[in-house]
Order: sequence, then structure tokens, then C-alpha cells
Amino acid sequence: MKHDLPNGVMLNAYPDSIDRDLAGTVRMLQRPEFEDVFSLFYILPTVFNSDLDRGFSIIDYDVNAELVSQADIAALAELDILLKFDLVLNHLSVGSPQFQDMLAHGDDSEFADFFIDWNAFWEGEGELHEDGYIVPSSDHLDQLFMRKPGLPILAVRFPDGSDRFYWNTFYQQVDVVDGERTYLGQMDLNAESEKVWAFYRETLTKLAAAGAKILRLDAFAYLHKEVGRTNFFNTPGTWDYLARLRSIAEDCGLILLPEIHSEYGSGLHEELSSQDYPVYDFFFPGLVIDAIDSGESGRLLRWVSEIVDRDLKTVNMLGCHDGIPVIDLRGGGEDGLVDDETIDVIIERLLERGGRVKNLFGPDGTKISYYQVNTTFFSALGESEDRLRLARAIQLFMPGTPQVWYLDLFAGVNDVEAADRGGSGGHKEINRTNLTAEDVAAGMERDVVLDQLTMMRLRNTSSAFDGTLAVLDLGPNHLGLRWSNGDTVATLEADLLAGAFTITHVENGNTVLLSHG
Ligand code: BGC
Repeated sequence: MKHDLPNGVMLNAYPDSIDRDLAGTVRMLQRPEFEDVFSLFYILPTVFNSDLDRGFSIIDYDVNAELVSQADIAALAELDILLKFDLVLNHLSVGSPQFQDMLAHGDDSEFADFFIDWNAFWEGEGELHEDGYIVPSSDHLDQLFMRKPGLPILAVRFPDGSDRFYWNTFYQQVDVVDGERTYLGQMDLNAESEKVWAFYRETLTKLAAAGAKILRLDAFAYLHKEVGRTNFFNTPGTWDYLARLRSIAEDCGLILLPEIHSEYGSGLHEELSSQDYPVYDFFFPGLVIDAIDSGESGRLLRWVSEIVDRDLKTVNMLGCHDGIPVIDLRGGGEDGLVDDETIDVIIERLLERGGRVKNLFGPDGTKISYYQVNTTFFSALGESEDRLRLARAIQLFMPGTPQVWYLDLFAGVNDVEAADRGGSGGHKEINRTNLTAEDVAAGMERDVVLDQLTMMRLRNTSSAFDGTLAVLDLGPNHLGLRWSNGDTVATLEADLLAGAFTITHVENGNTVLLSHG
């Protein structure tokens, strides 16, 4: 059975993105301008107790009392807004009670097998480095997919004074002050341990009780690890883990949305869909930029047709807390979504407009591929309000659940200083500027904000979008999408070269026309 995602518009923000804390966001959502605009809210994981990576390093899944109160959660329910949260299933913080217990009790800890002891994992499969960790043999290393240069390990001190090495795919922060070493890190969980599964069940139960409807499975494809195999989307292990999680989610009434960045050509999105999982549409952001910049609708419309023909259930977005995905567009040669030269053109253009590129690395630390471009979506579009309106209109007519990054709604520009301050891991800060109450009030005076809200309200409330989608044939430089449900019809007609569009909505004989550009 395919899990139908709720069909309304979804806000996406950190709990403190708008006016200091979740109460600030609630105040914004209670404004008349926001009435009926959103049905869902994806609150990023600083909603829980966390440290590194702006939330993706969870200490525990209790709400972060500095930013969130039960009254805020109740107010969102009062606004009929359903919640989406992350299950950051691949890792937990060094500061989690489980890791701390291991640091306190070493091998005697009840959580001794909760995390992945690197040397135990690779025992007999490589050479011991003089610093004490195993360097897996090259046939193993060649299969590893790295998110940072160097081996994905963090050295930790056990109570007996020995240094031990734990698997750490994502971020770490090590400081040495006066010879004292302190560290943080997102420590990979050992899903071979039943204790980890008990923890997942406990967490899903807790999140459902906190009002979650959808759970985004953060970086789930890294969870299954096995000697002799890749560390990314191992099969069938990854499928087995997903199925096990889904049965827990079903007990808790939760929909799982697996998050995966992979080349279009690898077809993983289709495989996920064939197993009845919804698909995070990481193809759309690059495709919409390409359509608007090139004035050609063909590549984007091919993807639209694929979603419709294969009945993919998607969540799409313009910007999000991460960068604009580019690795996702790759692959498939002539049958792909976008050829490699076009991807290079897209990347170059975004960099010229002030974006930063994030890469992936091979085991020897060399770059193997670009991954995403960090920029606000508005800056990616050359800071043209007309283009942002057009991109938003297209997104709202896409099949799937539209997710809206708060900063795009306010036409936020690149914060280059924040990206610089963030250092090598801080590229994402370019697109995470917090807004004040004054910024929100000023936004309510800007047409580009109000026009987006008007279109989003239409998308969120019209029954046309519960009907069927037809792709209109308006020629290669135009784009036409029509949603019909009985007599209620919503039509988008865009002239991509002119950057102009019209939305026509007909319901009960009343016609509403929105025209821009
Ligand atoms: C999230 C990132 C995060 C990573 C590790 C992702 O895919 O979107 O923001 O850094 O998972 O948790």
C-alpha cells in the first residue's frame, strides 16, 4: 500500500529560525497573512536536545526546552498543522546518555555495542596504523563512500586510559586546550545491536506522542554496514532495516520519508517507490533552476511525467537547510534527467551568483565528486523576485507535497559572512539566517512574500490539487500544468523565456486569475 502523504503545503524551519524560538514561528503563523497557508511543518532537529550540525547530532529526543514549549506544539495543533520530524537513525551525539555511559564504563557499559568500534569491525581486514587504528585494505576502502576527507573515525578515551576508535561518518569537533582533549561527534549506531532497535521503538513512540505525522529518515542509507560491502545503501541489508523500521512506524501511526541523495541514474528513487516509500524529490530544485535559466521546459516536464506515470509520492522543495542537490541530477547518460554538461553549467552559474560548492571525497582524501551547492534559492535565481515567484508557482503545481524553506518565502539572500564564520563545515550557514520579528513584519510589506503566500494558500486549500494532473503541450519554452477535480480546475501557464506566468483557478463558476511577470 502506498502511503499517501498529506497533500497540503509544508513549512520548513528550525525552531529558532523565526523570531528566536518556536513561539516566534507560532506568532508568525497566527498572523492573518498566514491563514490557511500551511498544513504541515517540518521542524528541524534542534527541536530536540542536540549539539553539532545544527541539530543532526541528537543527545536525546526530548524537546529542547530552550526553544520549544508544549504550548507551542499545542498551538500548532490548534492551527491544524501536522508535524514532520527527523529520525536521525544513523548516529547519536557523543553527548547522548548511551555514548556517555560507554565512556564512563568502557567495555562493561550496557551500551558497549551500541556504537561501532572501528577496529573490532575491521579486525583482520587491514593494517594497523601507528596511531592505533586499522586502515582497511584497499579493496575495502575502495568501496567506502566518504562524507569528509580521511577515515570516518573519532578517537575516544576509555576508562582504562586506552584510545578507542569509533565510526563517525559525519561531523566531529575536537578541541585541545592545555593538553586536555574534548570532542563532539555524530557517532554511528550499530544497528546489529538489538538495543539500538529498542531505542528506535522507544523514539518513534515518543515522537508520535509529540504530534509527529511524518518522520524523515535522515541519512538512512549509511546505517547498514558490513565488511566487504559498500557503506552506502547496502542491499538487502538496507531494505531489511527499512522494513523493520516501517513496521515500528506503522504501530505508531507514522509515515516514513527516507532521505537519500543519490544519482538519478542509479534508480534508487524508483526502487524506494516500488517498495511503497515516498520519495524526497531532490531532482526538482536543480531542474527548476535549469528550466528558468535555460528557458526550456523539456527536462523538468520529463520528470513531472515520470512522477505521474510511475505514481511516485514525493515531497519537493526549492531550498532547504542543506544545499541545492546536484549529485542527484547525474547519471543515466542520454536517458538521464540532465546531461553532465548541463549540470556543470548549473553549478557554474550558482557559483557565479555567490554559492559555495560542497564535495564528496575518496578514501585518500581526494575529491571524487561535487555534492551540493550551498546558496539561498533566491540568490541561486540571481536575486530576481519575478524568478522566485515563477519557481514557487511551478513548485506549487508539481505533483507531491510542497515543502517551503522559510528563508525562500522571505526571499533571503546568501549570508556569505556566516558561511565564512562557519569554516570548512559551515558552508550551509549561507542559507540559514534567522529572521527577527521585524524581518517578518517587513516581509508582510513585500509583494514577493505576499504573492507567494497567496499562491501557497491556493495550493493548500483548493480541491483541484486532490484531482489529476495534465501536462499541457505549450511548446518547448513554455510550461503548462493543469490540475482538475470535478469542476474545480487550477492551471499554470508559464512563458519561461519571458519569466512570466498566469495561474487560473476555477471553482463553482468563480474564476481567480493571478498573473506575474
Ligand atoms: C542532513 C544533513 C546532516 C546529515 C547528517 C543529512 O542528510 O540533511 O543536514 O548533516 O544528514 O545527519
